Amino acid sequence: MRPLGVTPEQCFIGGVWTEGASGETLPLTNPSDGQALCAIARGSAEDIDRAVQAAEGAMQGAWGRSTAVERSRILYKIGQLVLDNIDALAELEALDVGKPLKQARADVVALARYMEFYAGAADKIHGATIPYMDGYTVYTLRQPHGVTGHIVPWNYPMQIIGRSVGAALAMGNACVLKPAEEACLTALCFAELAHRAGLPAGALNVVPGLGAEAGAALAAHEGVHHISFTGSVGVGKLIQQSAGENVVPVTLELGGKSPQLVFDDADIEAALPFLVNAGIQNAGQTCSASSRILVQRGVYDEVVAKMADRYAALRAGPAMDDLDVGPLVSTRQKDIVEGFLKQGADLTIAAQGQVVSDAPAGGAYVAPTLFEAVNADHALAQDEIFGPVQVIIPFDTEQEALAIANGTKYGLVASVWSANGARQMRLAKALRAGQVFINNYGAGGGVELPFGGTGLSGHGREKGFEALYGFSTLKTVAALHG
Ligand code: NAD
Repeated sequence: MRPLGVTPEQCFIGGVWTEGASGETLPLTNPSDGQALCAIARGSAEDIDRAVQAAEGAMQGAWGRSTAVERSRILYKIGQLVLDNIDALAELEALDVGKPLKQARADVVALARYMEFYAGAADKIHGATIPYMDGYTVYTLRQPHGVTGHIVPWNYPMQIIGRSVGAALAMGNACVLKPAEEACLTALCFAELAHRAGLPAGALNVVPGLGAEAGAALAAHEGVHHISFTGSVGVGKLIQQSAGENVVPVTLELGGKSPQLVFDDADIEAALPFLVNAGIQNAGQTCSASSRILVQRGVYDEVVAKMADRYAALRAGPAMDDLDVGPLVSTRQKDIVEGFLKQGADLTIAAQGQVVSDAPAGGAYVAPTLFEAVNADHALAQDEIFGPVQVIIPFDTEQEALAIANGTKYGLVASVWSANGARQMRLAKALRAGQVFINNYGAGGGVELPFGGTGLSGHGREKGFEALYGFSTLKTVAALHG
C-alpha cells in the first residue's frame, strides 16, 4: 500500500521520508474485517530527537523568518491539495479506523477547512500598543513558541491534526506530530501534501509509533516548547507531568460525558436527530459525544419511545458500506465497550440497533445500545464509554437537571433543548462545559468555534482564533526614548 506515493513504514523528518532508527514496524489492522492492512514505523526516542532537531532547524531558517502572508498562502494550498485528494484520504481513513465513508469524507472537508481558516487568520493576529508613561513607547508582539509537539488520538485524526497543527503553523511554529498507532495513514499523507504545497523542510515532521515510546519521548523532550495533547485522561496526566518537568505550556483535550437537557417545552421532533446522532456518530468514539440524555418527566415517555424507534433502525457494518455506524477502531476498544455493556446488565435497554448479518466475523462491531431510566450515579452515566451507547436519565426540575448535568468529573460540551429564553441563558452560564449549544448539538462542528474542556475534560482551547493565542506567546516591548 502506497497512499499518495507514501511508504507507510517511514517517518517524515526534515522534509524527507526516512526509515525509523530501529527499523522496526507496527502492524495496522482494518477494524471492519480484522485483516492486516499494512505496517507503520515504530518510531523511537531517537527519531523524535531527530524530528525535534529538524523542527528547531526550520525555526532557525527560512520558516522562522517567514511572514504571516507566506504562511497563509502555504496553508491555503495545503487545504486545496487536501480537497483535491478527498476520495483517497476518505477511503484511507475508512480502512484505517473503520469510519463510514460519508463521515470520513466530512473529516477530509474539515481538515481542508482548518487549513483555509488558519490561512485566513494567520495575518490577522496583531499585537497592541499600550499608552504608558511619558517618554515610553510600549507595544506587544505575538510570537511563536518555537517547536510544538502534537500528540493526537485515532478517533478524528484529520480533524485534530487540522485544528492543532494548522493553528501552530499559522503562528509560525515548527511541529512534530505523533499520530496514534492505530491511525497513522492520513497523518502521513497530510505531511506529503504539506510538502507538495511548499511547506519548508522541518516545519512539519511526523513520527508514528507507540504512545509509551515515541509519544512519551516527544512529551519529555527538552527541545519542545509547547505540547498539544488530545486523548485519554490517564495519558493526559502523564503529558502534563512531562510538560511540568520542562516548564512548557500544554493544551489538554481529553474525554467527556456530555449531556443534552431536554425540557417539557422543547421541540422534540427537531431535537431527535441530534439526540441520537450525537451518541452514535463515529460509533460513539467522539470526545464530545453526547452519552447522557436528560429528559424532563412531561416528555420522558415520548422521547424514550421516539429515540428507541430510531435506534431500532440503526445498522452497523463495514466502513466501506457506509451505514449508520461502522466498527469500533479495534477489538481492544470493542472489549472495553462490551465491558461497559456488562456493567449495564441491571439496566433497562430501550432499544438496540443491528450489526448487519454479513459483517465480517473479525470486525470490531458493537450494536448501538440505548438504556432508559438510568440513575445519574450509575457507572454508565458517569464514565466515558467511547462506544455507541447512550443513557436516558429522567428529571423533574431545572435545578435537578443542572445538578445531574454538572455531576460528573468531566466538562466538555452540553446542550439545552427548551423554548424558554431565560432558562437557556441561565443554563448556558451555569453548565460546566467548554461549549454549550442551545436547541442544537455540535453546531456543525465549526472550525471557527473555540473548543476545549474543564475538569477532567482538560484545559486550553483549540479551534477558532483562540487557538492562535495558545500557539503563541506574548512579548511586551517598552522603549524609553525621552
Ligand atoms: P490515548 O490517550 O490512549 O492516546 C492518544 C495519543 O496519546 C496516541 O497518539 C497515543 O499513542 C499517545 N500516547 C499513549 N500513551 C502515551 C504516553 N505514555 N506518552 C505520550 N503519548 C502517549 O487516547 P485514545 O484511546 O487514542 O483516544 C481516546 C481518548 O481521547 C478518549 O478519552 C477521548 O475522549 C479523547 N479525545 C478527546 C478529544 C478532545 O478534543 N477533547 C478528541 C478526541 C479524543
